[in-house]
Amino acid sequence: MKPTLYTSALSHKHDTGAGHPESSARIAALEDLFQTAPFKDWPQKTAHAAELDTILLAHDEDYIFNLQDKTPDQGLFYLDGDTVLSPASYDAALHAAGAVCDAVDDVINSTTSLSQKKNKRPRACTHDGFQNARAFCATRPPGHHAEPTHALGFCLMNNIFIGAKHALNQYAQSTHNIKKIAIIDFDVHHGNGTETMCRAHNNAHPDTPIFYISTHGHPLFPHGIHGGGDPAQNDDTTLNIHLPDKCTSAQFRNLYEGQVFPTLDAFAPDLLMLSAGFDAHKNDPLASAALETADYGWLTRHLCDIATKHSKGRVVSVLEGGYDIPALTDSVTAHLKELAI
Ligand SMILES: [Zn+2]
Repeated sequence: MKPTLYTSALSHKHDTGAGHPESSARIAALEDLFQTAPFKDWPQKTAHAAELDTILLAHDEDYIFNLQDKTPDQGLFYLDGDTVLSPASYDAALHAAGAVCDAVDDVINSTTSLSQKKNKRPRACTHDGFQNARAFCATRPPGHHAEPTHALGFCLMNNIFIGAKHALNQYAQSTHNIKKIAIIDFDVHHGNGTETMCRAHNNAHPDTPIFYISTHGHPLFPHGIHGGGDPAQNDDTTLNIHLPDKCTSAQFRNLYEGQVFPTLDAFAPDLLMLSAGFDAHKNDPLASAALETADYGWLTRHLCDIATKHSKGRVVSVLEGGYDIPALTDSVTAHLKELAI
């Protein structure tokens, strides 16, 4: 099985200014990687822009108008000290969100064609069934800090939540029967925006839950700026776990084996979505966790096993952070190789 890789030319044009860690060099490095074996033989697609109606399932219309209005004709506009708009940023954000919607469509429709085929002939091996049931969105700006009404932490639109809402909107009432989604956010920072949105969604639509699971450093951005991320507030559809200081591979794996995997197994999602940040790597400049590259392969393998068991193999992985470029490309390599197995 070869996962589909989504990119967008606009990801290169979202300019955050000189010296900013969330730069287009991240995407350039990943696109270079995609031109090497084995990735060069994988399906690669260009993202469409997300529909405005889909964006508005996550964000207030006033906020989206505000983003559009503040987008400069030239130069940069700082929404806060870290979060920047350049002339192409609004369109880049629409395409980063659209990549996730495209990936959701791809993954769900390909798994359905399997079940149709299944009635006609036996399959050769388990994985033949999940031919395009995996996708990775290598786009920017990232999304998990973006709240319903404002940008934060390099993020303009909450790409993964927009994709999750798209999945439920399109497929919950269809024969695809996508009714339960799990978002696993392994970026080292808490996805405050995603948690806010998932909680609001789950209150309004308890019959189609989106389970938010985050393992993150603490104290670390965005702690103190936003609520959420507190394990004391965990409930039936929220699991926040604080990583220990300078979190090691063994500590990280123990947390996933002890808490995350059993929780996912019990929830039995119809679709797994990953907020795939690689900034818990030991070489990342923005945090002090101490993961090895191999930990991302290990984690991906276990998450894919859960997807195979419960979700017809469906995994949509969405790039969030990861700011040391060699560590990012190595970690994405480890992630993708396991996504493909
Ligand atoms: Zn991060």
